[in-house]
Parts: sequence; structure tokens; C-alpha cells
Amino acid sequence: MNPQYQYDIFVIGGGSGGLTVVDEAQMLGKRVGLADYIKPSPHGTQWGTGGTCPNVGCIPKKLMHMTALIGEIRHELTATGWQGIDPHSNHDWNTLVNEVQRQVKGINKANDDWLVTTNGITYYNKLGKLKDDHTIELIDKDGQSGFVTAEYIVIAVGSRPSFPNDIPNVKQLTITSDDLFSLKKAPGKTLVVGASYVALECAGFLTGLGYDVTVMVRSILLRGFDQEMAERIGEFMKIQGTKFIRGTIPNSIEDVEGKRLVKWLLNGQEQSDVYDTVLLAIGRSADTQNLGLEQVGVQTNKESGKIIANESDLTSVPNIFAIGDCVQGRLELTPTAIMCGKRLIKRLYSNGNQVMEYSDVSTTVFTPLEYGCVGYSEEAAVKKFGRENLKIFTSEFTPLFWNFANRKGTCYAKLIVKKDDDIVIGFHYLGPDAAEVTQGFGVVIKLKAKKNDLDNVVGIHPSVAEEIVQMQTWK
Ligand code: FAD
Repeated sequence: MNPQYQYDIFVIGGGSGGLTVVDEAQMLGKRVGLADYIKPSPHGTQWGTGGTCPNVGCIPKKLMHMTALIGEIRHELTATGWQGIDPHSNHDWNTLVNEVQRQVKGINKANDDWLVTTNGITYYNKLGKLKDDHTIELIDKDGQSGFVTAEYIVIAVGSRPSFPNDIPNVKQLTITSDDLFSLKKAPGKTLVVGASYVALECAGFLTGLGYDVTVMVRSILLRGFDQEMAERIGEFMKIQGTKFIRGTIPNSIEDVEGKRLVKWLLNGQEQSDVYDTVLLAIGRSADTQNLGLEQVGVQTNKESGKIIANESDLTSVPNIFAIGDCVQGRLELTPTAIMCGKRLIKRLYSNGNQVMEYSDVSTTVFTPLEYGCVGYSEEAAVKKFGRENLKIFTSEFTPLFWNFANRKGTCYAKLIVKKDDDIVIGFHYLGPDAAEVTQGFGVVIKLKAKKNDLDNVVGIHPSVAEEIVQMQTWK
């Protein structure tokens, strides 16, 4: 402990990464300070403790996705004799929002209780800003400020939705995922702009809840993901009723009697439509403006605002670290921010030497047909190893329960295998319970299993995951 400073470690940003750092450090008896402050969205939406994931990210998103899936099951319930179920009944938006917010507030309360009752943690609901390399300015909601000092500083301020800067009043005329999960009024006919996983997930569950949804996509779906899988997701969403406008972006958005008149160019022709809601999901930017980074010498990428940190999470200032979504080149996921935070504290205080590995991280896109993957996409594998050096196995299948109500569409799985050593370097699964299926195969890929190992696994029957072991069709 260095008595020169008030805190051994001070964290700016109490999301998935920041809270992990706080927790791990307090367990080792360190004096820990945390500043977490939510800047309201342009519509004034605010939320409680825990950061993006529990408030405006993973958790409310998954609850809404699950609600849409539950609605889909109404068809199977009717087909299998359950009485009193109307598969075409309407959904009530406000009931869902209230339930989602009830669950979110439960998480906030657990966080609040933990932050105020745990020895060793001092929590400030204040905006943090670097004053010098050991001093943090803390500014409250009324603009009053004070200063604290720390030996180490960890920046974990996350990211926020991006807005285009060439559409006048765009912040007032659109909403983002920051607003959607607590939206007081049903979104109605919605234009989702973007093709990120956030865009497709929101479009998917809004369609499932019964809204008229169009997705406007500038170029490809799910950049960075396997494109065959991405296109299959789009096709399945179309079957479910989501409309797509490809190859364009909005030129203008205007308010017309409370609705949104959106104009765009397609093949040189101006087109337009009127929507109740325009949901922007065109990407996220690091929340690093006004953090005082430049004045302290913490280097950032000037375009994205992301902090540049090395593999040990160290910034250009020797006692200032950065983790999570605000760092350049990191996977923007809750579990990566958490593991990164854990490893940082182990390295700082308990002789740990592991850095965060960002390869072979399993993830799932919660579109109506869920997509789980780990390892190389087909494009990335072909680029790195050459198509002639790969074997790509695929399987198309229909889950047993889909036959009750003749669901349309097909599920699909793909394994990418290196020819020289038979190691499976890519796993892709499009089907029910993708997160649950993919988590197990994540271990398989991490352990560098061979295709022959999978061939020796006896499948569980009847299941969808059995499609992945003993896959024989070579693309
Ligand atoms: P955050 O969780 O964003 O936390 C940063 C915190 O810092 C916030 O509370 C912020 O208000 C605060 N802050 C910012 N500036 C300051 C300041 N100057 N002073 C004090 N406090 C400040 N990930 C998954 O793994 N699975 C999913 O299914 C998933 N779904 C998602 C769905 C949506 C709609 C979104 C938006 C994200 C989703 N994510 C998902 C991503 C995941 O939420 C993030 O990767 C994760 O929350 C990043 O954690 P973090 O600690 O870097 O930042």
C-alpha cells in the first residue's frame, strides 16, 4: 500500500469490466474507489448501476428476445392440443417493458447493496475525469467537483451508440438501444438502421412481438461474422416477416405530425416511407470524450476515440490501464471485459501472468434463429490458410419440435477444419439454443480438438447438437 495515495486502485466506469476490477481488488484487501455515472441518452433515458450489460444491453435484450420466442411457441402449443391459446393474439408492449425493468432494477439493487456494504470499496455516483496520472476529478450531477488520488487507475468507461453526423436533428428524431428497453410507448412501425448484431437482434424480437419492421442495411449483414451464416440469418428473418432494404442509408429523417418521414436513395431513385420509430444501431463509439486523456498523455485512436492499450491492458501512461469496450481492438462482449478485469488484478496483485486472449471466444447472436460461433469464419480461414488447405463440413437440419406447426426455414451448422492436422478451427451453428450449444463447443475449439475427435463422440439423440458431431458432408 502506498500511503501517498487515497486509493490503491481507482476505477472509472462501473460496467462489466470495471465492477470486476473493483470486486477482485477488494477481495485482496485493496483500497478501491469507483466512479460510475450514466450520461442520459439524447431522449433523457437513464439507468442504474451495472453498466451497459444489465441495463441497456445483454440482459434486457435477451429478455425481449425470449419473449418473442415464447410468442412463436404459441403455434406449437395450439398444434399439440393446449387449449385457450390464440397464436395470433396481440402482445402488450408496456407489460413487457415493466417486467424487463423490474428485472433490471433487481440487478441494480443487488449492485447498489454490494457497493455500499462491501468493506474496502468507496463508490462515487460521479463522472470521473483524469486530472493528472494519479489524480481523478469527480464531478456530480450538479457540476460540483472534488479530487481523489490513486496509485493505479483503470479506465472502463465502455461505449455508447453512434449517430451519423450528416442528418439534421438525428438525435431527436431517432432512438437507440439505450432507449428501446424502457420505451414508454410501443415502437409501432419501425425502421432499424444498421446491420450489426444489435440491429438484427432488435429487429428480430420487434418482428416477433408483432411490429412491422424494416432493416436498412448499407452493405453486408454482421460484418466480421461468417457471411454464409449472416445471409442465412437474414433469409430466416425474412421468412418471419422482417423486411430488408439493402445497399442504402437514410438521406434525411423528418418529423411529420409525430411520425418519421425517412428518405433514401436506391439505384439513383429517391424513395421514402413513414415510420413510428427509427431505431439507429449503426455501431458504438468509445465513451472517452471529456475524460482528460489527452492532457494526461493516454493515447487514443483519433477516429474512434478508443484507448490504445497493450496486451497487458496498459495505456501509454505507466500506471493507467484500460479494459473493455473503450479499448481499441477488443471484442465488445461482457465476458471478455470480465475476464480481462480478473486477469489484470491477478497480474497487479497476486503474481498472475496471464493476459486476456481474444481468439477463440465463443459468442451468440440472438436473432430469431440464434447463431453461435467460435473460431475462424470461413472468410477469415480461407484468407489465412487458403481454401485448398481446409475442409469445410456443413449440415442442414430441422429441429424435431418444428414439425408440430410446420415451421419454415432450416437450421445449419458448419465446421472449418485444417487439412494438415485435422484441427477444428471454426464452429458455426444456426439453430435453437445456440448459446447453450456453442458454449460446450467453445471448450472443444479452445482445446484444439480434431475433427476425428468429434467423429468419435456419440451424439445425444434426439437433439440438435447431435448434428455437429459426426458431420460428414464436405462443402
Ligand atoms: P460498460 O458496461 O458500458 O460500462 C461502462 C460504465 O462506465 C457505464 O456505466 C458508463 O455510464 C460509465 N461511464 C462512462 N464514462 C464515465 C465517466 N467519465 N465517469 C464515470 N462513469 C462513466 N455482450 C455480450 O457478451 N452478450 C450480449 O448478448 C450482449 N448484448 C448486447 C446488447 C446490446 C443492445 C448492447 C448495447 C451491448 C451488448 N453486449 C453484449 C455488449 C456488452 O454489454 C458490453 O461489451 C459490456 O457491457 C462492456 O463492458 P464495459 O465494462 O467495457 O463497459
